[in-house]
Amino acid sequence: MSKVLVVGAGGVSSVAVHKMAQLIEAGTGPFSEVFLASRTIAKCEAIAASVRKRTGVDVPVGAIDADDVAAMTALIEHEQPALVINLALPYQDLPIMDACLATNTDYLDTANYEPRDEAKFEYHWQWAYHERFQQAGIMALLGSGFDPGVTSAFTCWLKKHHFDRIDTVDILDCNGGDHGQAFATNFNPEINIREVTAVARHWENGDWVETPPMSVSHEFDFEGVGPKNMYLMYHEEIESLKTHLPEIQRIRFWMTFGDEYIKHLTVLQNVGMTRIDPVVYEGKEIIPLQFLKAVLPEPASLGETTTGNTNIGVIATGEKDGAQKTLYVKNICSHEAAYEETGNQGVSYTTGVPAMIGSALMLDGTWRGDGVFNMEQFDPDPFMDMLNKHGLPWKLEELDGPLEF
Ligand code: NDP
Repeated sequence: MSKVLVVGAGGVSSVAVHKMAQLIEAGTGPFSEVFLASRTIAKCEAIAASVRKRTGVDVPVGAIDADDVAAMTALIEHEQPALVINLALPYQDLPIMDACLATNTDYLDTANYEPRDEAKFEYHWQWAYHERFQQAGIMALLGSGFDPGVTSAFTCWLKKHHFDRIDTVDILDCNGGDHGQAFATNFNPEINIREVTAVARHWENGDWVETPPMSVSHEFDFEGVGPKNMYLMYHEEIESLKTHLPEIQRIRFWMTFGDEYIKHLTVLQNVGMTRIDPVVYEGKEIIPLQFLKAVLPEPASLGETTTGNTNIGVIATGEKDGAQKTLYVKNICSHEAAYEETGNQGVSYTTGVPAMIGSALMLDGTWRGDGVFNMEQFDPDPFMDMLNKHGLPWKLEELDGPLEF
């Protein structure tokens, strides 16, 4: 049984901590204690109060600025966790990895590092830590959320059990939820808007293909949601999938957006509110996107009002025993059920549960290695089993043929 340190106290953190507390309450391991630290201690205290009410488990809390490597190092030294679970923002990935190196402690996150001044989602900054983690005899697991995370496990599971070779992969991320607000994002607004306004990139025949943001879309009928427009986007698991499964000729990522979301985002972009370079306002430098984040609803506050389902899955076409086939593996998650269980909406739920599962597999030694790893480098079976047991059941369907677009 092991103690973990969770950093960050937003929606994803709240779900992961509730889920770990459920296991502590059941006494089934591998978690013995969760210490929760974030920049705003009141948010940690609110999560701890909810966890106590729902499970009876006490979660001690503390304040931390995770950008401060010395402070992070001191916190890890004081709390002595077996694993640090980074559920703050991608900006904190490298400082927390530095603190893990300084203290010989394992690391896990759900989103790859990006520099504040450039919306670049690439693994190379974190992959560059591999040798140092290896030499220290510690492990980092990158991207243990839903996408990336579950989508990587879905692809590896399809390859392991159903294909001799996969030729194309399409990841379809649909949030069919309605939060009742004119405009809100279902995870951190700053990270969400940086992602959505970035140039779309997919992998095809050994190369990146770029298209302008939100310029390619198709309608798709999502089970549990209905027909929705989905847009071609860049997403970080394309990079890890093409690296670890190089046979795949084409990997694309699609996300649904409603007309209202696109209308608001277009206006915000046109007036310069999504800029990430500093502008001077009343003698002080501000970043318009960070200011916008401050006035938008917090993702963690959307749980109570959100209704409907998410539906996220992978469609793969490839060959088995000489015949072509197309398989679709997906999870449908109810926002209302997620809220009922943890007090958070479905997007936080679908990320927080895989963060708990990846942590459990590291702690009990099922997924082990020295160095920095992506999800694709481990056996998907134990992860897929735990999804079914811990609130994200998935199903497999054979399609008549490949996607027509
Ligand atoms: P939130 O914005 O709700 O929460 C982020 C938390 O991190 C806040 O509590 C914030 O504190 C804290 N934080 C920010 N900066 C620091 C810092 N310097 N030191 C300590 N704490 C800090 O985000 P979400 O919960 O929605 O998302 C969390 C992470 O999960 C993000 O990295 C996001 O990209 C990732 N994600 C991954 C997905 C996947 O499927 N793989 C899907 C959705 C999200 P404060 O309140 O003080 O600002």
